[in-house]
Amino acid sequence: MDMNAREMQSILEEVSLENLKQNLNRLSDFHTRHSKSPLLNDASDWIINKLKGLGYKNTFYHFFKSTIDNKEFELRNVICKKKGIDDKTIMICAHYDCIMNRKEDSNSRAPGANDNGSGVSAIIEIARVLAKENLRHSIQFVFFSGEEQGLLGSKAYAKYFKESGMDLYRLINLDMIGNPFFSPNTVIIERDNNTDIKHNHVKENDIESIEFGEVMKDVTSTVGLQFHLDSIYDSDYEPFEARGYVVIGVYDGSADAIKNPHYHSSSDLPENIDWSYLTSVTKLVLATVLKMDSINSH
Ligand SMILES: [Zn+2]
Repeated sequence: MDMNAREMQSILEEVSLENLKQNLNRLSDFHTRHSKSPLLNDASDWIINKLKGLGYKNTFYHFFKSTIDNKEFELRNVICKKKGIDDKTIMICAHYDCIMNRKEDSNSRAPGANDNGSGVSAIIEIARVLAKENLRHSIQFVFFSGEEQGLLGSKAYAKYFKESGMDLYRLINLDMIGNPFFSPNTVIIERDNNTDIKHNHVKENDIESIEFGEVMKDVTSTVGLQFHLDSIYDSDYEPFEARGYVVIGVYDGSADAIKNPHYHSSSDLPENIDWSYLTSVTKLVLATVLKMDSINSH
């Protein structure tokens, strides 16, 4: 189970820029992935079939009901479980829905390439690479719906997760990892150290989150990235943090409606993705998972 640097490097090299591109292009081909659009179900079907095609049999929808703009919708998270030697679970998650500047607009073209086709594409590629690896810990690859409508999917799944008594060891959330507009080649590692109670409900999990961030930080140079340390903010890790779990996030820093013209717009297209950066961040997440898995084998 011990993993040396060379073994890790050879696994990281399997991450394919071409696959990342294909996954992301496919997701952006849906006219929209707005949570009110029936097209989002088609996107979830595509994700689930993709995972099953990689050999993951324990892959299923987690259904939940939510009200959006005064109407009730049945939404779906996609869950894919990889059994390890133990039940301690590392969750790698991303939202697969998207949105326009007008929150209720479910008809306009909304390609959501960076937000968050990038995160979804990366997790599918990580799942592909890990399919043949035997890990100590169990993994859940999770794709949330309704994020842009108020973290609906992650709230529903965090509740279900806690109530089912599953053992969540660590969580990594990927939300916008396709273009570091404002600081080239730099990844933002988000830890649970926010001073605002609204974004840091539980204090007891902070230290482990910061330590987990250090593990990720220490592998950034291995994948050729610079890092910036920041805090979790407004994404799917928050409902898990609020239930006491240890979470971090990766992010490119481009969620700025004023400075980034593509944010939540019809121009959030694959042509604006920095493919080499996306490949590096995908490797970073994979390396962090491998590292966590081997640290605990001692
Ligand atoms: Zn997002």
